[in-house]
Amino acid sequence: MMLGRKQLLIDGEWRDATGGQTMPVVNPATEDVIAEVAAAGSADVDAAVRAARAALSGPWGRLSARERGRLVWKLGERLMDRIDEVARLETLHNGKPIMESRHIELPMAAECLQYFAGWADKLHGETIPVKGKALVYTQREPLGVVAAIVPWNFPLLLAVWKVAPALATGNTVILKPASQTPLTALALGELAIEAGFPPGVLSIVTGSGATVGQALVDHPGIDKVAFTGDTSTGRGIMRSAADTLKHLTLELGGKSPNIVFPDADLDAAVRGATVGIFYGKGEVCAAGSRLLVDRAIKDQFLAKVAARTKKMVPGDPLDPKTRLGAIASKGQLERVLGYIEGARREGATLVAGGQRTDIGTGKGYFLQPTVFADVTPAMTIAREEIFGPVLAAIEFADVDEAIARANDSMYGLAAGVWTQDIKKAHYVASRLQAGTVWVNTYNVYDTAAPFGGYKQSGFGREMGRHALEYYTQVKTVWVDLG
Ligand code: NAD
Repeated sequence: MMLGRKQLLIDGEWRDATGGQTMPVVNPATEDVIAEVAAAGSADVDAAVRAARAALSGPWGRLSARERGRLVWKLGERLMDRIDEVARLETLHNGKPIMESRHIELPMAAECLQYFAGWADKLHGETIPVKGKALVYTQREPLGVVAAIVPWNFPLLLAVWKVAPALATGNTVILKPASQTPLTALALGELAIEAGFPPGVLSIVTGSGATVGQALVDHPGIDKVAFTGDTSTGRGIMRSAADTLKHLTLELGGKSPNIVFPDADLDAAVRGATVGIFYGKGEVCAAGSRLLVDRAIKDQFLAKVAARTKKMVPGDPLDPKTRLGAIASKGQLERVLGYIEGARREGATLVAGGQRTDIGTGKGYFLQPTVFADVTPAMTIAREEIFGPVLAAIEFADVDEAIARANDSMYGLAAGVWTQDIKKAHYVASRLQAGTVWVNTYNVYDTAAPFGGYKQSGFGREMGRHALEYYTQVKTVWVDLG
């Protein structure tokens, strides 16, 4: 099935890339090319920046906060109206099960738009009692033009986590989706036009990270870069953004520990350990990819995890019953297989999965969900982000060793704790170096709850009230009353 040729959205118009180049979009479940999208260059980025700057001082800049909020709300409504179609696109270009895109992630994206729509007219400044005769007040103002650069694992949701607070607070946005998964960002552009956003308020530029992403990061007309992606890309962006001193938020990788104590509800912990790593094929920044299990229950617990894992069979992502889809790209499949091979070489014990597989069509980038036991903290699969359905089980002897092993990572995105002892749960939560700690649950999110990293998992927060601070700046006004 071919979805045709897709253009860039710049200044409210659909256009080809200036250089006329396009790039293919592949369905990872069939290996078919399903669309050609424009591959933008720096002239296109320039045009998008000009339009975004002009929009700041156009009708968009003159809207009241409430009217702005109403538009963002409407965008959420339009997304829900077209959710079946957009969810299908999300599944087609990423390989994720339609159950995840249609029933979890896109509804979350719509909710996120409507949550931030509600904040638009509730953010305000303060008056400050200073010495002397003066009235001093603050107001919150938008930063200006925001470049939102997002990865391929949650193409629309991670875009909306940036677009919603940025627009609700009065910025204009240029969105660059990952080159593998541009289709739903383009759909968001269509919905924004339908919702009535003025031209230039939301532009969508598709193309490679090295060209379009880098041009956005370097452009002096961009005020902020909101980035989600790999930690090494984030480091490069931080270096480049220094030249023009841009505001920056980075949501980067993770190697999150999921810690199981012997006093946990073990059946719930088994479910949490598997959902924690296999949701989204493990292509989840917060995936519970390190399973830390108390030595006393390790064998029994891992036997249950392995049994449950072996029952999880990848299927056609468009089938509503499928719970495990296709790895998002050939390159990613090869990368993950490389880690599996490396883990074997380093002496970890394979207890489930480990092989490429297919769904009877002989096509597609499918991988068996995989579990390794006897992983030591020094092994590569205990240290590096694999970004695939591979779980590394590591044992610990007591609470202190569990905490030390959990924190023994350059990352600090999330962590899970499984125990029925309330004191232990809160104590461990307080000691973990992670932006999110889940107790007796894993991989749950809410648009009102902030999410983001400690350590090299990045900085800034998305979702919740905290996100608003990263899209606004404070102006202090002094009025002489003397
Ligand atoms: P990536 O860093 O390769 O790409 C992310 C985006 O950056 C893409 O749009 C890409 O085109 C663009 N890009 C690449 N080079 C660039 C450059 N030099 N300048 C500007 N933009 C550039 O990451 P990926 O492989 O698409 O995504 C996987 C990574 O994302 C994983 O490491 C994962 O942990 C991380 N992630 C983090 C979170 C979080 O919230 N912390 C959420 C999801 C994914």
